[in-house]
Amino acid sequence: MAITKRKFDAIIVGAGGAGMRAALQLSEAGLKVAVLSKVFPTRSHTVAAQGGIAAPLGNVTEDNWHWHMYDTVKGSDYLGDQDAIEFMCRHASEVVYELEHFGMPFDRLENGKIYQRPFGGQSQNFGGAQATRSCAAADRTGHALLHTLYQRNVNANTQFFIEWMGLDLIRNEQGDVLGVTALEMETGEVMILQARATLFATGGGGRIFQASTNAFINTGDGLGMSARAGIPLEDMEFWQFHPTGVHGVGVLISEAVRGEGGYLLNKNGERFMERYAPHVMDLASRDVVSRALTMEIREGRGCGEDADHLLLKLDHLGADVIKARLPGIREIAMKFAHVDPIYDPIPVTPTVHYMMGGIPTNFHGQVVIPYKTGPEEVVSGFYAVGECACVSVHGANRLGTNSLLDIVVFGRATGNRIIEELRKSPHHKQLPADAADKTLARLARLNHQKDGENVAQVGEALRKTMQMYCGVFRFADMLAQGVTKINEIAERITSVEIKDKSQVFNTARIEALELDNMKEVAMATMISAEGRCESRGAHARNDFPQRDDNKWLKHTLYFSEDKRLDYKPVRLKPLTVESFPPKARTY
Ligand SMILES: Cc1cc2nc3c(=O)[nH]c(=O)nc-3n(C[C@H](O)[C@H](O)[C@H](O)COP(=O)(O)OP(=O)(O)OC[C@H]3O[C@@H](n4cnc5c(N)ncnc54)[C@H](O)[C@@H]3O)c2cc1C
Repeated sequence: MAITKRKFDAIIVGAGGAGMRAALQLSEAGLKVAVLSKVFPTRSHTVAAQGGIAAPLGNVTEDNWHWHMYDTVKGSDYLGDQDAIEFMCRHASEVVYELEHFGMPFDRLENGKIYQRPFGGQSQNFGGAQATRSCAAADRTGHALLHTLYQRNVNANTQFFIEWMGLDLIRNEQGDVLGVTALEMETGEVMILQARATLFATGGGGRIFQASTNAFINTGDGLGMSARAGIPLEDMEFWQFHPTGVHGVGVLISEAVRGEGGYLLNKNGERFMERYAPHVMDLASRDVVSRALTMEIREGRGCGEDADHLLLKLDHLGADVIKARLPGIREIAMKFAHVDPIYDPIPVTPTVHYMMGGIPTNFHGQVVIPYKTGPEEVVSGFYAVGECACVSVHGANRLGTNSLLDIVVFGRATGNRIIEELRKSPHHKQLPADAADKTLARLARLNHQKDGENVAQVGEALRKTMQMYCGVFRFADMLAQGVTKINEIAERITSVEIKDKSQVFNTARIEALELDNMKEVAMATMISAEGRCESRGAHARNDFPQRDDNKWLKHTLYFSEDKRLDYKPVRLKPLTVESFPPKARTY
């Protein structure tokens, strides 16, 4: 069967904040850009971001980029790459003002400047009082950001391929990336999209866990495609559990609630964070707060009949503040927890929220893998940005509101680097004859499979296994069993069956293809977690409770082909300032 091919200067898979910020840069430079998205662009998960975007504007408290950098390095538990962190924090204010000038409707202070609120892990001076660094549009910052970027892209004539799913990466014999195969969901047609630059901006993969704040589309597709094409995945053991997902539902209650003055209580009405983070209490970083909640539940001080959640109290903020600053939160609490936070506390539990690991890149968004020249050789033609990438600015733990910043700073930087690289190589490389073979084989297998298990069933087994064996606290025996179980589930995935074989908008087929990607993400996570014998950031091991910089101040790389782990050094040297050496992390 002849397969349709289309050519572009650049292809971006993903139309969230990261993909759209990069697309804008490229379209405005006059390049022919295709942006693919499984959903309408403004439904990407960025739209759900509530709390804000970090930038040291200093509108409320004194602040500067160097303090922001220090907080981010400390928050990362020293696993973040300090060159990338310096780059991000130095450009933070600039990109936020740029968004303001694009028309993003930030909330305002009395004096007309952008409104900022405190968030976890933000200190004002090295180790000192809390800074107020998160720029916000009520509790709908991501919504404001994504719509602003979409409108700008429409204006710049970016070409969107809406409800198109990227399936596999195309590489030639030298390993250069030449584009992707993709499925038009409406018709079921598969095409080859060829490009001189391919950028993955496919977002997170939180859906590999059972309790998750992530959208259903967050299935780690970019990571799956990369892993299948021989690209290693970096630091996949590090998953952020957000302390306050609505109990039993998973929907997020933003840290902005605690930023505005809300706090956590156990069944005795005690502000238990006093014991875990005596200085900043509820605004310690997320790994610390999530562990505290888990400890309270384990030690029998949880609330409710099953003593399995805690309470988030905010009624003392008053109805006016709640209605003005946290209207979305109030709505979520009323709809999903059946409480009105103006009067009653919200039941919450730690819930998977963010993937710190991903496709390894440098701070220009170029994908880097170990090769003859060292651990970070650029893969020609391949870029990644946003939550699917591991730059790594978040290291072992991301600070709240640093992700929206990450996607805008590195979205723009990657766009700029692609423009430079395309000037150097103006011609398309030749596609290999077998460019679409792997994709077509995967689809053919699904079309012909008989007597297989159904996708939902195996997917459920995967999510349950991740939740149970790789949660907030990790145990050696559980991880070992987890690896065995995930291997078994991966095997089951190779023979899942879809009953509906039709072409038009076949969501069953799409879910099966997503499961292939979730499998890669889950395997990488479990195997990397078993490998790291220390506790750092979000990775808390019962048998190795301390951070061990002598042995483990290094990034993990997981190779799907032979399920092998390798490691590479952390970039401790910033661009211009002195390095922040690892030290004990207290809040
Ligand atoms: C509920 C919630 C609240 C949050 N709040 C904040 C906050 O206040 N501040 C903050 O800094 N961070 C926050 N975060 C994190 C932050 O929002 C995300 O990390 C960030 O928005 C990710 O942006 P992205 O562009 O990388 O990906 P996304 O916005 O997730 O976009 C991914 C895109 O990729 C597309 N895609 C995926 N796979 C494919 C495929 N195979 N083919 C085609 N397209 C594909 C999707 O359709 C989508 O367009 C929050 C996260 C959640 C879940």
